[in-house]
Parts: sequence; C-alpha cells; structure tokens
Amino acid sequence: MYQNEPLIFEKSSPGRRCFIPPACDVPEKPITNLLPQKMLRKREIKLPEVSEIDVVRHFTRLSQKNFCVDTNFYPLGSCTMKYNPKINEDAARLEGFTKLHPYQPVEQCQGILELLYTLEQMLVTISGMKAFTLQPAAGAHGELTGMMIIRAYLDKQGEKRHKIIIPDSAHGTNPASAALCGYEVESIRSNPAGLIDVNKLKTAFDRNTAALMITNPNTLGLFEKDILEICKIAHDAGGLVYCDGANMNALLGITRPGDMGIDILHLNLHKTFSTPHGGGGPGAGPIGVTEKLKPFLPVPRIETGKKSTTEGVRQDTSVAGQGQKYYFLNYQHPDSIGRVRAFYGHIGIMIRTYTYLLSLGKEGICKVGKFSILNANYLRHKLIKYYDIPYGKTCMHEFVISAKKQRQQGASALDIAKRLLDYGFHAPTIYFPLIVEEALMIEPTETESLETLDAFADAMVQIATDIEQKPESVRNAPKTTPVGRPDEVKAAREPTLKWEH
Ligand SMILES: *Cc1c(COP(=O)(O)O)cnc(C)c1O
Repeated sequence: MYQNEPLIFEKSSPGRRCFIPPACDVPEKPITNLLPQKMLRKREIKLPEVSEIDVVRHFTRLSQKNFCVDTNFYPLGSCTMKYNPKINEDAARLEGFTKLHPYQPVEQCQGILELLYTLEQMLVTISGMKAFTLQPAAGAHGELTGMMIIRAYLDKQGEKRHKIIIPDSAHGTNPASAALCGYEVESIRSNPAGLIDVNKLKTAFDRNTAALMITNPNTLGLFEKDILEICKIAHDAGGLVYCDGANMNALLGITRPGDMGIDILHLNLHKTFSTPHGGGGPGAGPIGVTEKLKPFLPVPRIETGKKSTTEGVRQDTSVAGQGQKYYFLNYQHPDSIGRVRAFYGHIGIMIRTYTYLLSLGKEGICKVGKFSILNANYLRHKLIKYYDIPYGKTCMHEFVISAKKQRQQGASALDIAKRLLDYGFHAPTIYFPLIVEEALMIEPTETESLETLDAFADAMVQIATDIEQKPESVRNAPKTTPVGRPDEVKAAREPTLKWEH
C-alpha cells in the first residue's frame, strides 16, 4: 500500500503545520527592518507543509525500506554481515566517551586511552602480531598504511624495491593500495585448486619485489595451506608478506597470522568484530606488525609509563596515583611513517569492538571461527547438488558458487541475486572473485540459526529449479520490492536527488 512512498513534498497541503505557536505577544516588525537587504531571500523557500504525523510516518516508512542485518539474512560474501550486538551500541553511547573532546589533555582521557591500549593488546593476542595501530579508518586505509610501512622499512635498509605481488583472486583494494603507494603490481594466477601457485611465486618473487600481498583464507573461502612455505619464499628473497585480514572470521581462536610468518596484517573491525558497516559509515582497519616493523607504525603510539603527552615532553602530572598505570601518546618515534588519521581514528568503532571482545570472552571468540566455518560448510553442502561450486571440497567462512550452468539455462548470477530479494534475503556478493565465472559469494557468518540457513538453502534450491523449468520467472526478478530493476549505471551516476516544482 505504501510501497511507493512519495516525496515529502508530494504530501504537502497548503497551511498544514506540525506545530502552531501561540499568537505573538510583542509588536511584530517586518523582517526587512530586522535584517540587511543582502541577507534576505530573493524568493520564498519551498518547504513541505505537513503535519507531525505526516513527518513521522514518512521517515519511519523510509527507514523501514532499509535492508539490514537487523531485519533479514544478509549473506554478502567478503563483507561479514554478522549480527552487531546491541550492547556494543550501549557502550559506545556512554557519555564518558561521547562527551570527550579530542583536544582534551591526556590526563583527562586515561579511560579511553586504557581502552584503546587494551584493545591493541587484545588484537595482538588474537592475531599473533607484535604491535597494533588503531588509526587507519578502513580496510583499504590499513592496506595503504601497510604499504607505506613496507616502503619505509625497505628504504631504511637502503633497498629500492618496486614491485608487489598479488594473487588474481585478491580484493580490488589490494592492487589499488599498492599502486597508490607507488608500487608496480604483478598479478599471479591461482593454481587449479584456487590457491597460490608456489612454483610461480618462487619465480616471480625477485630482488625487486617488496612484498607479497595475500588474503588468507582467500576470497574463494579457501585456506592457503602452503602459507609457511609462501612466507619463507618471500623472506628468503629479502621481502615481506602483507596479509589482508579483512575477513578474519574463520581464523578466530583457531590459528594466527602472526604464527604463519605474516609481517603486516590489517583487520576490519567493521566486519570480523561486529561493528555496523555498509553505506559508507565509519569503519576501522587497524594494522598489526612484527617486531622489526614496529618502529615504522604511525604516531602517536599509545604507551604506558610516565610523562610526555604531545610533541613536547611534559612532566608527569600526579593524576595517576602511585604505582598506577599512566597512558600517554608518544610522538617520539623517528622512523614512524607519521600520522594517517586525525586524533585516534574512529574510536566509536573501537569501543564497540572492545565491548564485543569482552562480552564474548576467550571461549566465545574461539567459537566464532568454528561456527562461521560450520555454517558456511552446511550451506555449501546443501547447495552443491544444485549449483556448480568450482573450488575446494570444504570451505572456511565463505564459499563461491558459479552460476555457469544456470546462465546456460537462461538466468545469470545477477538474476539469482535479484530473485533472492523476493524471498526476503539480501543478495550475496556477485561477480567477485573475478576468477569465478558467474560468481555468487556466500558468507552466512556464525550468528545465523539453523532455521535461517535452511530457509535460505530452500530459496536457492527453488530458484535453481525455477531456472531449469521457467527461467523467465527468475530473469525478471525482483517482483515484490518497491523498485524492480533500475538501470544500475544510471541509478548510480545520475540519481534524482532534487525535487522541482
Ligand atoms: C572489505 C574488504 C577490504 C576493504 O575494506 P574496507 O574497509 O571496505 O576498505 C579489503 N579486502 C577484503 C578481502 C575485504 O573483504
């Protein structure tokens, strides 16, 4: 009925108001007597004339058009749309945090500094890296920061290396970040199993190579089982290994990149660590490094001990009691690549992560990895009879279907994704990774129930059956959403944002 919510201007009715103020009890003066001419509007502003209930219903309805994890299953591969516990939001909204000013002296910010410091230590424990910075604002920003650290480290060794090697299954941000940092990118083809080809890597990793940039588990949802040898090849050639840890879900509590020989790792707090994302909102892409790369991390570093706040060294104040830990920001790291983000980064996200980790505890975190793998394999198993799943016999936290067969029958990966909307499911990631034809990348996450997984599998099976029998029924999907199939390019490039009379 209100599927097609009109613009609020279209609901306008002359003279209708939200609020009618009492009559003015002081003499009225014309506005022209009160403001200089140049400040007055040339023509009357066109505002919608609506009642309060009109406004409330309009925006409430619009808000309900959002598809979100809080309403439905969202198996968007590589994006880890897990449930974001509401306790995270409570913590992030505590006044002690929201009313802090970023310029407040560190003596008055001991609480948040302790939280950030502790969070860094937690990430160290989880990942096996030696130190973390929380500054980068997103995964891709973490990658860029990592590339800058690699460059700074090699420069310091007097080494000029120009190349970064990246597998062809990588997320698009990987080559983009390397290129933005001035590196040449060499792509290496995955082997038939969807993994890094160790022999190809051996030949490719020469004295001109600064680093290998890998993702483990990779974007096919497969664990790089030769990871120890892969890291050794890079290290033997004097290079480094960067790991894109945006999707760390499957490893949580099971294994650690730091133990595999990874030199730099970024994590996406807004994926693995249950902070809301999508729609371009704030994220956080902390990076962890090994001991030898620690001096190059961005400043300021959050450290504990005595004295020193900003650039200048200041005597310790007596705020911290005897023997109490005192947190401060240390700018005195001469090899640092400098600052990559204003203030401390997106601390709202960090508070949510900290809350998430504390509320799960060690045992809970260890279950995340196992359940995310179990859920993905459960779905994979239910779909294998109906769809082609080209790589691997088992998967990590996600898997990639190829709708090649369905395409031949008359409906593409895009059609299948669109059809899922009619069943109330968000579409999986499609046409990525690039090495899978008609790819549908499915990541259920550990937060979904058996019932939800079954319902999704049923929908996928129904769609496959429909494509076999009457592909046109899927080709025109979605049929029940407020908007069917917009021209995707036009919708993105020429959105109608203005309302004209
Ligand atoms: C999401 C993602 C990124 C980029 O993270 P942003 O926070 O969106 O910049 C990089 N690599 C992989 C594998 C990802 O899934």
